[in-house]
Amino acid sequence: MIPSYDPNDTEAGLKLLEDLTTNAEAIQEQVLHQILSQNCESQYLQAFLDGESDKNQQSFKNKVPVVNYGDIKPFIQRIADGESSDIVSSQPITELLTSSGTSAGKPKLMPSTAEELERKTFFYSMLVPVMNKYVNGLDEGKGMYLLFIKPEIKTPSGLMARPVLTSYYKSQHFRNRPFNKYNVYTSPDQTILCQDSKQSMYCQLLCGLVQRSHVLRVGTVFASAFLRAVKFLEDHYKELCADIRTGTVTSWITEPACRDSVLSVLQGPNQELADEIESECAEKSWEGILRRLWPKAKYVEVIVTGSMAQYIPTLEFYSGGLPLVSTMYASSECYFGINLNPLCDPSDVSYTLLPNMAYFEFLPVDDKSHEEIHFASHSNTDDDDDALKEDLIVDLVNVEVGRYYEIVITTFTGLYRYRVGDILKVTGFHNKAPQFRFVQRRNVVLSIDTDKTSEEDLLNAVTQAKLKHLQKPSCPLLTEYTSYADTSSIPGHYVLFWELKPRQNNEPPELENKTMELCCSEVEDCLDYVYRRCRNKDKSIGPLEIRVVSLGTFDLLMDFCVSQGSSVNQYKTPRCVKPGGALEILDSRVIGRFFSQRVPRWQPLGLDS
Ligand code: AMP
Repeated sequence: MIPSYDPNDTEAGLKLLEDLTTNAEAIQEQVLHQILSQNCESQYLQAFLDGESDKNQQSFKNKVPVVNYGDIKPFIQRIADGESSDIVSSQPITELLTSSGTSAGKPKLMPSTAEELERKTFFYSMLVPVMNKYVNGLDEGKGMYLLFIKPEIKTPSGLMARPVLTSYYKSQHFRNRPFNKYNVYTSPDQTILCQDSKQSMYCQLLCGLVQRSHVLRVGTVFASAFLRAVKFLEDHYKELCADIRTGTVTSWITEPACRDSVLSVLQGPNQELADEIESECAEKSWEGILRRLWPKAKYVEVIVTGSMAQYIPTLEFYSGGLPLVSTMYASSECYFGINLNPLCDPSDVSYTLLPNMAYFEFLPVDDKSHEEIHFASHSNTDDDDDALKEDLIVDLVNVEVGRYYEIVITTFTGLYRYRVGDILKVTGFHNKAPQFRFVQRRNVVLSIDTDKTSEEDLLNAVTQAKLKHLQKPSCPLLTEYTSYADTSSIPGHYVLFWELKPRQNNEPPELENKTMELCCSEVEDCLDYVYRRCRNKDKSIGPLEIRVVSLGTFDLLMDFCVSQGSSVNQYKTPRCVKPGGALEILDSRVIGRFFSQRVPRWQPLGLDS
């Protein structure tokens, strides 16, 4: 069922894509048939389907419910606790993937199998012919891809629980990948697989710089990570150049496998190269630095869709006109689709779902609420409302161009009619396979890196801070708040705008630094596992900031929103604002700024706790 082709044969790869997309409908039927045949004896499906005779598409749609994570969590938890995989799947569940979506503050766990790694390898292989179709000569050099692993833990049953990319990079599929001219990277695997993200970053940049004349493309998975790499380079270029000059590796790279692999890339001192790099980096402006440091690079491969779009202007500044290429759309649950027009403008990116990856269905969602998201986010998920639309769910090939849908998947790994939480807009078709623009994650208001903070998470955290630190009679009352993801510096950070009112009179409130800083830290402590990991371990988010605004600011914000078309009667304070008029109003009335003074607590969780 999982096709394969020779990655050196672009024609064959493109032909395979044509076949898959042309036969999307038949392939989807086969996929569902195969999943049901394989897994109809699973405890989960048996609860809904009546054995062999009931494993058809119609029964599946009539009897198996569309579910959220909360519905399936008990089944997955049982597997994590050591019960047999056949609760959900006939194939052994070999690991659990920790999603950046969280449930009750902890990462969601997604089942995975050995076969699923093969499916992912196939998916990655399909990106190759697409890039080759648009960019010539990619077989004549290397890719500088800065890839990282994240912490993992063992569940009570001994299964590993880890993020999907950590799972993939550690797998034989990545480490023992058969050589082809398109998977030659500047980073030795040992540097990618280094647990210490700072050592990993340093070593990968060092290898990328030393091999700069061979680099044809640069990238990370998400845009946020690429900008962190640029910042790291800014902070460390002198040390990196010193290493190139002397042919040694700085003393704080202590991981032996990393050191050895980098030393073998360095191959002795290179004064001339170090001087060239150092003089580029010493330039006052870093505009176009990517082009200057990697002169043969043809594009920057980073995902810049969804919440990553906020990084486009900064990336454009550094890239000096190199195209920003978002190649794929994927998740812990399943890899979904690829961008068949990779050199298009970032705002035009659509992903074509590959119909053999899973069985896809689509819940129509209210179009209007998603048109406005560029201005301000209202989290408007209403589960009852969504439930009503369940009868309107449509198959992959029956979605309509211009409409918005939430994607629902049935996977080979034991998820059945599972709502991923992503909202997509249909932009067209490639043959019979629809193409989707990623619109937003359902119910997410703030995101800097892989964190996804919902309106509810934010409300809980703000409430907790208020209860803990603003209760004394001398403390002001928090009357309104909103938030903003500030990415003007690297790493970006969360900003909360608070309007505070004195309890006694209408004088401007007395703001005690200490109290406000404690509020910042309390909010951070209450945000979810992924936020705290980004802050504490990955250092990919900076300290949370509270900007106190003068009394009456939120009235002005309301006037502004109404002037932009919000209805006065139904007006609700947006809990997140984007750059533009609303942010300008808030920023022009700031009377105090406070930052969290410590990193929030975080540790790899015992998932049973
Ligand atoms: P995770 O399960 O932690 O791997 O996160 C997967 C989620 O990241 C998806 O469900 C999307 O919300 C988001 N995501 C993945 N790929 C893209 C993309 N190309 N564009 C926008 N968002 C993406």
